Amino acid sequence: MKEQPIVIIGGGMSGLAAAIRLARFGKPTVILEKHTRPGGLNSYYHRQGHLFETGLHAMTNYAGPKDRSAPLNRLFRQLKLSRKTFRTHEQIGSEIRFPTKSLHFSNDFSCLHNEVCTNFPASAAGFTQLTDFIKHYDPFLKRPWLSARQRLRSFIPDPLLIEMLLCPLMIYGNSEEDDMDLAQFVIMFQAVFLEGFFRPAGSIRDFLEMLQDHYLALGGEIRYRTGVESLLVRKGTVLGVRLATGEEIEAQTVLSTIGAVGTMALLPDCLPGVRNDYVGRLSFVESIYLLPQSTLTDIQHDATCIFYSDRDTFLYRRPAEPIDIGVGVINFPANFQELEPRDPIQIRVTHPANYESFRLADQTSVNGRSSQYLAMKKSWQELSLAKIGKMIGNFSQNIVYLDTFTPLSIEHYSGKAAGAVYGSPLKIKDGLTRYRNLLLAGTDQGFLGIVGAMLSGVTIVNQQLLTVTDQDTA
Ligand SMILES: Cc1cc2nc3c(=O)[nH]c(=O)nc-3n(C[C@H](O)[C@H](O)[C@H](O)COP(=O)(O)OP(=O)(O)OC[C@H]3O[C@@H](n4cnc5c(N)ncnc54)[C@H](O)[C@@H]3O)c2cc1C
Repeated sequence: MKEQPIVIIGGGMSGLAAAIRLARFGKPTVILEKHTRPGGLNSYYHRQGHLFETGLHAMTNYAGPKDRSAPLNRLFRQLKLSRKTFRTHEQIGSEIRFPTKSLHFSNDFSCLHNEVCTNFPASAAGFTQLTDFIKHYDPFLKRPWLSARQRLRSFIPDPLLIEMLLCPLMIYGNSEEDDMDLAQFVIMFQAVFLEGFFRPAGSIRDFLEMLQDHYLALGGEIRYRTGVESLLVRKGTVLGVRLATGEEIEAQTVLSTIGAVGTMALLPDCLPGVRNDYVGRLSFVESIYLLPQSTLTDIQHDATCIFYSDRDTFLYRRPAEPIDIGVGVINFPANFQELEPRDPIQIRVTHPANYESFRLADQTSVNGRSSQYLAMKKSWQELSLAKIGKMIGNFSQNIVYLDTFTPLSIEHYSGKAAGAVYGSPLKIKDGLTRYRNLLLAGTDQGFLGIVGAMLSGVTIVNQQLLTVTDQDTA
């Protein structure tokens, strides 16, 4: 009899990585993806002949090809991808900007170290101790939740420095409001400050095609426009999936990458109250602006990312207003080393946003988005532009094209409940559910961001779906 496949729900970064890992060991695997292309949150679209990337400001965890133990290179080995032929561009350098101080960092950690020593001399020794602590801390050991803020206070006497360090680490990888688990802080400190930012050569489309082609060459199958509508279950076992078309596919195991809430919604016996516990609260609005390169002279454009807060206390939470323009990231996708900027250039601006505000504004919609939603989006876009203009110079008169997406767009394109990019604050680290052959990978398993999502897919496959013998033959 033909072996039933392992069905992977979702062709985002975690689904693709899990699928490649399985296909490498000859496991029959099929990815079911409801959209027309892979990538999920980290994808792309075309407008007016231009390619817009959706989820990539910068990849974290940079490592040169020779550093064999680095997470990025371990990931490549696990996927049997050549790191040597994978061309990367490192960041030019990024900035953390607060009202009274600014800190620069690059992929050379001494840059941040020197900036801390110059700007916060009283905290310099504590910062060195913190770095040492992080290098020796194993974030993957099972421990109870510990407050990163509290632990930081034991090293660093200056509260402003604590806020500034937390700002990029929370924005790029924290599903909790206001504080973060110490283990997640350590993971993000290593990924952002000790290892650093890069982007793959070419566009994210090239990167996704490389992953997809590799998977297909290993014998895997991927089906697009194939939304899973429900899971077929009997006595604690998942038998397969039912598609929106009514088609049923039997499965030996289902690995879901669509989040705990999205997965629970596919089950017949899920109480809505249980689902709500896992809904994340943090979402974002992002605007992408196209500007002629010739107009760049009017603006400050020398960083890869500027993470900012216009309050000395960094507020990382769902804002009361639809958008918090007081916190954000300004990203220049062309500002990576040895990258030829294309004309027109792009600027991307991201702020925390309130999912409920956009959802309520959209409630009256009949066909497509309601006028109230569109008006809300436009007025906040104007406020954001004015704010960013004050920070880097006004460029609103030079915009040739702009697009904004909201928490509702994120929810629509990724299936992440409430548009929560980093999913639920409650993580299911072993990927297990109460169904013996239903597993979770991706955002709600625990690793966040592009590299994190891929590591999550590989980790759950290694822990739950491959035997030691399988892995010994690798
Ligand atoms: C604006 C923005 C900027 C970002 N910037 C960065 C960055 O600079 N660096 C970084 O590292 N990370 C960044 N991220 C985060 C990163 O993109 C995500 O953490 C990562 O891509 C998550 O991958 P995933 O596979 O876990 O989930 P997803 O990408 O959400 O994948 C889930 C997939 O499942 C599919 N799906 C959902 N429901 C169903 C269903 N019922 N049936 C079939 N398929 C379904 C979806 O279509 C999707 O393709 C950013 C995200 C956003 C939104």
